[in-house]
Amino acid sequence: MDNYEKMLQRARSQVPADAFKRSGERFQVPKAQLMIQGNRSLWQNFHEIVGVVNRPGKEVLKYISGQLATAGTFEGSNAVFQGKFTSDAVDDVLAHYIEYYVICPVCGRPDTAEIKDENAYWLQCSACGARTSIRPV
Ligand SMILES: [Zn+2]
Repeated sequence: MDNYEKMLQRARSQVPADAFKRSGERFQVPKAQLMIQGNRSLWQNFHEIVGVVNRPGKEVLKYISGQLATAGTFEGSNAVFQGKFTSDAVDDVLAHYIEYYVICPVCGRPDTAEIKDENAYWLQCSACGARTSIRPV
């Protein structure tokens, strides 16, 4: 074996095995399904999406309704907004929520949890261990 091959082998052995596996995965959030009823909008797959982003439903609803500048409430398994909102409008706001409150800014993985310590909020990443300061919703 020549030196170049040895060098290559050593470089490969230093890359964690799961680094390759991770890059192939994708974080798939379903598209929001909204149904307009009179002057209200029912978000029909709210619970499914909350399950995927792995955050409390109350917090997600508070953020989204705040950004849409309307009132959001729960009705059965739906979230309901006052006013008429399209799936695209909700998806847009949801994308911001995920960017700030779910995705780790260091490694880009969604394997995070929000933690509160004294007066600060943090996004703790279980993939890379980074802890990022966040503003509470
Ligand atoms: Zn991370």
